[in-house]
Amino acid sequence: MVASGFKNVKLAALNSDQRTIVQVGNLKVGEGLTVIAGPCSVESEEQLLETARRVKEAGADMLRGGVFKPRTSPYSFQGLGLKGLKYLQKARDETGLPIVTEVLDPRDVDWVSEYADVLQVGARNVQNFSLLKELGKINKPVLLKRGMYSTIEEWLNSAEYILSGGNPNVILCERGIRTFETYTRNTLDLSAVPVLKELTHLPVIVDPSHGTGKASLIEPMSMASVASGTDGLILEVHRNPAEALSDKEQSLTPEQFKALMERIRPLRRFVEELK
Ligand code: PEP
Ligand code: MN
Repeated sequence: MVASGFKNVKLAALNSDQRTIVQVGNLKVGEGLTVIAGPCSVESEEQLLETARRVKEAGADMLRGGVFKPRTSPYSFQGLGLKGLKYLQKARDETGLPIVTEVLDPRDVDWVSEYADVLQVGARNVQNFSLLKELGKINKPVLLKRGMYSTIEEWLNSAEYILSGGNPNVILCERGIRTFETYTRNTLDLSAVPVLKELTHLPVIVDPSHGTGKASLIEPMSMASVASGTDGLILEVHRNPAEALSDKEQSLTPEQFKALMERIRPLRRFVEELK
């Protein structure tokens, strides 16, 4: 047990003797670098399938796409729901990429887990304890984002709700926190990666898309994430970012994603060699 300074040192998330590898189909999250890519929102069948094909070609391991969108305004695009899940399934059938999608409502956990390979808990729901408890009852992997106001301790306690409910398959995702800085959408706290590697046995990935909010910053922060020791990246890619229904400023084109992948994989190998 790592001396944590946490009040509750009995957290299941804190035992770092043996690292957890989260199995998603044939993929092992926590071994190597797992890259998840796709649009912020599933918008149409063509948009999703084209993006899925292109991220697959560029070497992505999983496909992301939201169908229930947690939007600040109720008038913004809210997602396609079930129709979107069906497009995600079609994209998986065609490309073989496992799918990651966000679930917002505890009542949706059961049936959405029949479609998705990984269920995402968004930053705004990290302390939705009813949702976390439902996710503890399934055995599908959960990608748990850091809340924009979460301390590491609060975030690990959120993971604890899922682990203590009986689901050991939790992947932590640093996606930036709110600070006084407003130039970037959030402040990507890359120190969270080595901190969590010290504290927990869970895989840790980074989301430089929400972490910066700006497409031009995603490649440098992806490189920095790899140097920090991340187990993976989750990146927003859209076939035509200017037309994206959500998060257009932080969406990469498929070409930009491909160029990033060509740098990220060798960088990871280099970082591994230094160990
Ligand atoms: C998303 O992944 O599109 C998303 C809404 O992320 P977050 O919850 O980190 O803001
Ligand atoms: Mn998004």
